[in-house]
Amino acid sequence: MPNNKKKKPGRERGKSWTLLVHGARPALEQPAPVNPPISRASTYLHRTVADMRDTERRRAAGERVKAYGRRGTDTGFLLEDLLVELEGGHGARLTSCGLAANTLVFQTYLRPGDRVLVGDSVYGPVRKFVTKYLPAFGIAYELVATNADEIAAKLTRETKLIYLECPGSTLFELTDLPRVVSIARANGALVAVDNTWGSALLYNPIRLGADISILSATKYLAGHSDVLLGAVVANEHAWPALNEMAELVGASCASEDAYLVLRGLRTLAVRLNEHARQAGALIEWFRKQPFTAKVYYPALADHPDHAIWKRDFSGSCGLFSVEFTGVTPTQVEAFVDALELFGIGSSWGGFESLARVEDVASLRTVSSRPAGPLVRFHAGFEAVDDLIRDLESATRVLGEGAR
Ligand SMILES: *Cc1c(COP(=O)(O)O)cnc(C)c1O
Repeated sequence: MPNNKKKKPGRERGKSWTLLVHGARPALEQPAPVNPPISRASTYLHRTVADMRDTERRRAAGERVKAYGRRGTDTGFLLEDLLVELEGGHGARLTSCGLAANTLVFQTYLRPGDRVLVGDSVYGPVRKFVTKYLPAFGIAYELVATNADEIAAKLTRETKLIYLECPGSTLFELTDLPRVVSIARANGALVAVDNTWGSALLYNPIRLGADISILSATKYLAGHSDVLLGAVVANEHAWPALNEMAELVGASCASEDAYLVLRGLRTLAVRLNEHARQAGALIEWFRKQPFTAKVYYPALADHPDHAIWKRDFSGSCGLFSVEFTGVTPTQVEAFVDALELFGIGSSWGGFESLARVEDVASLRTVSSRPAGPLVRFHAGFEAVDDLIRDLESATRVLGEGAR
């Protein structure tokens, strides 16, 4: 088996770019369309009762077979395989949305009496699931700051899972994942990472030793704000349990949605590069404004975890947050309202620019929160001069002192 730990993820990049174009394209009799057909099915027909029994036996043994559409169709299987290859995993299961992928991981690996450490920087709805659902099932959780020392200090014998998001939602804190993995291994705990930001291309947690990588394909993978889909990719050790739980709870997605994600993946690499370039220009503008207290973006040299980003990531994307100073939250809301090209909305990863005013008080429990009002921006593909003109024009509502 190749030793993936010695390989730098950055060096994988060239290979991944080719994989995005040539992967998930089955050999069909030529001439054939470039893209695979969309396969739709609930029922799969078998020639004989014995054939059907054979399919069911193989399915019960954990094999991926066409037995019933809930388990997936050829379209979904192609997407699973491509994500497994990109992430360096063993198997993948698709879900109706990213959040369903997140919660599937907790359901799979935790039982009453277990304990889970959850990064304080996780996606808000995941935090809600953890705090509302887990205690009712006798599972203890602790929200932890995402640096390796904090995590090491909180680990107990009952800790079965360390669940992180890297970078964290909204403030983009990073974790020294290889260190966390070695701490977890010594303790017999699994490590799961929400890799939505890294999009299976910029970051590969499993290649760094994690057991599970979770993706909201709704974001950059699909890339066009028109589909919801999630995926859990597992290494060989974590795979059988995940595969079984996905069967038990009926984790599933529509073939059309899997197809849209496959189509999005073809251009993922170029889109991410362009999102990052656009974000860079907007961040440069924000950093010159007197009302900017701080820009949160891991690719910036002054990001506290920048060294980890340089070591473990092969690139960046279009998502960043701006903390304001010297202006009131009401003025910041008026600033966002005054923007014409930035849509006001949740989610991100589409072709369009977005702005979202964040509820700073609810962002973190044990780690530090920004002092001033915070807006998360997503840099889309509009002409960057137009975006900057839009931002400049909106500053009129911030008052003289902030201009
Ligand atoms: C959006 C998001 C999710 C949830 O994805 P949906 O497809 O919207 O359910 C999970 N994790 C992160 C980090 C996200 O940004």
